[in-house]
Amino acid sequence: MANSISPSPSQPDELARDSGPVKLNAAELVRVAIPLGEPFRISSGEVRLKEALLLRIGEGDFSGWGESSAMSGSFYSAETPDTCQRELLEVLLPAVLGRQFSSLLDLDAYLAGLTSNRFARVAIETAAWDLVARRRNLSLHEVLGLPSLPKIPSGLAVGLYDTEAELLAAIHRYWSDDYQRLKIKIKRGQDVNLVKAVRKEFGDLPLFVDANADYRREDFPVFEQLDDFGLMMFEQPLAKSDLEGAALLQRRVCTPVCLDEGVETVADARRAIDLGGCKIVNIKVQRVGGFLAALRIMEVCARHQIALWIGTMPELGVGSAQALALTGHAGVAFPTDVEPSRRWYVDDVVEPEIALRPGGLFLPDGPGLGFEVDDAKLRRYAVNLLSFKADRGTSPS
Ligand code: MG
Repeated sequence: MANSISPSPSQPDELARDSGPVKLNAAELVRVAIPLGEPFRISSGEVRLKEALLLRIGEGDFSGWGESSAMSGSFYSAETPDTCQRELLEVLLPAVLGRQFSSLLDLDAYLAGLTSNRFARVAIETAAWDLVARRRNLSLHEVLGLPSLPKIPSGLAVGLYDTEAELLAAIHRYWSDDYQRLKIKIKRGQDVNLVKAVRKEFGDLPLFVDANADYRREDFPVFEQLDDFGLMMFEQPLAKSDLEGAALLQRRVCTPVCLDEGVETVADARRAIDLGGCKIVNIKVQRVGGFLAALRIMEVCARHQIALWIGTMPELGVGSAQALALTGHAGVAFPTDVEPSRRWYVDDVVEPEIALRPGGLFLPDGPGLGFEVDDAKLRRYAVNLLSFKADRGTSPS
């Protein structure tokens, strides 16, 4: 497809400003719940059901899809599907519907002024980018100023289990040679033993650990032990606010520290970089509140030689496709956490499903996300009476 928007990833604000006017005349919000193939457990909790809010916004003949995908139980973030649903229905959608924005830059600033709930506003912001892409008959990555990768390297992520044997069995169950690295979750008391067991069973495959902020500064000796295992990174070892602690840790270990929860804003990224608190940042569109925020953070990181990779909550297919659209950024240096739909869920809402093939994941060549949302599946997995529809044909502003 021809790219009629400036392709420079170093100018995210200009890209967003060049989108042209955006008027959101119609919206449909559907809360869905899809069972996980098995419970997903990290250091702070467990989920058995994937809940997400899928948002379709319309402008004339075109529509775009967004997803709000905070985890249930607030064990990754303070936001949950309930808080995001409330914010979208009571604050954000009533405010944006019928309003004309001069550009996606204007929309982002307006949303940021309405709420600090990034997991809620991401649904509208990303849907608007998809809408603009479809209106221009461009792929999402093209309107984001990014190339697409013919094959997108993907990594397997495996949660916590009660025993090492169960963890190893799960890795055997899910591993495919089409993955390009393995990530395991750790928590205090389940760390060095897990890495040792995985190394013994699987040898020197590219491996790293994600602590989801479970450790404290007094636990540094654990990471000094883990430093001997040739891991690719330590993902979010400490509390998200403890960037100084991350910097202290980074000075004590050779393994790169990666921040996930700790980088929510450009200001966080700048502070982490100034402190020397990370060498790698995991970018999640959901956590940072949208594409523009993600691109801004990616630009800052790339300028300071902080390596990037694209993470996932995980989201359903809409959010996953959004993540994949960012993987062509020049700063991305590691495989994405996005995995095939069937890895996590008994089903997904997008058509075609996200699939892993030799060499990685593929983005369909089509406008916008490249994937379409299957209406029948949307209805099948919709939670009781939580559909929201609004339609304002004309703009009051
Ligand atoms: Mg993480």
